[in-house]
Amino acid sequence: RAKELGLTVGTYDSSQDASSTDHLALLAELQDAFAADDQIVLHLQPAVDLVTAAPTGVEALVRWRHPRRGQLSPGAFLPAVERSELLIPFTRRVLDLALAAAADWTANGINIPVSVNVSARSLTDPTFPAQVTEALRRHRTPASRLVLEITESVAVSEQEVVDEVLARLRSSGVQMSLDDFGTGFSSLASVTRIPVDEIKIDRSFVDEMIDKPAAGAVVRGAVELGARLGVRVVAEGIETIEQRAALIELGCPTAQGYHFCKPMPADKIVQALTQLMEDAPAPVTRLRADG
Ligand code: C2E
Ligand code: MG
Ligand code: MG
Ligand code: MG
Repeated sequence: RAKELGLTVGTYDSSQDASSTDHLALLAELQDAFAADDQIVLHLQPAVDLVTAAPTGVEALVRWRHPRRGQLSPGAFLPAVERSELLIPFTRRVLDLALAAAADWTANGINIPVSVNVSARSLTDPTFPAQVTEALRRHRTPASRLVLEITESVAVSEQEVVDEVLARLRSSGVQMSLDDFGTGFSSLASVTRIPVDEIKIDRSFVDEMIDKPAAGAVVRGAVELGARLGVRVVAEGIETIEQRAALIELGCPTAQGYHFCKPMPADKIVQALTQLMEDAPAPVTRLRADG
């Protein structure tokens, strides 16, 4: 059973868990979850233009509708998935659900990309770029419609393969986004090493920017960095109108957070995006002086 569950993967270390029995049970349940087909679901959260609130993209956030424990957040099961061989089928399922959702809003005339979070361990898997292009092919979706969000860097010993994987993804036309920018390994060093199309300023800075000048300075710095590098900048976790005003003041173009939209079940997203587009003020049209 252990072998079947992929516990022979070299990176697995049962001492990392409070209880390896729990871990085993969780993995067994996860295998059932894949078979059940309605247990692994995505919640979707739009990113919007800070000024107009028009949607610019949608992020896929995974949930596990556990038959007994209710809805589980990624933090409750992703670490177990990431240390097992379930990571590949899990990633496939998430990509399929995300691309299917994107096909839905595209069919409704809303042409914005879907963002999918990628586990650091997938970036050390030389077959990962092919898994992504296969998923795009299955859904007949152009690569430019997919944004992959990455966070952690990985062990130095694996940097070569990571760089290779990132280069292959980028050359396939997929967009890359640096998530949680400014924290942990998602740092200035990453920006110089990894070619990205977008940076997402970590929620912790947005949280504190009103009260702490230093947090505001980090946000301002990230916005300027993005402008200089020619990459999009998204502020994460915006919850208040004050934060919205402050971010606009700093020239931040785009944001994501409860202030605009909470993550929602996939069957609600087309309606929500349509509403955001209807509510957004029309682009300012210049009056003709000779009119
Ligand atoms: P993340 O990619 O940085 O996603 C943002 C998290 O902040 C999400 O938590 C989202 O629900 C939450 N959030 C959004 N707006 C607000 C806000 O205004 N206020 C607050 N307090 N929170 C907000 P969630 O869904 O629990 O996901 C947590 C993390 O799990 C994600 O962080 C991402 O790193 C990871 N994750 C989610 N889905 C997947 C997935 O399919 N695959 C992988 N590998 N990781 C995933
Ligand atoms: Mg993310
Ligand atoms: Mg983030
Ligand atoms: Mg995060």
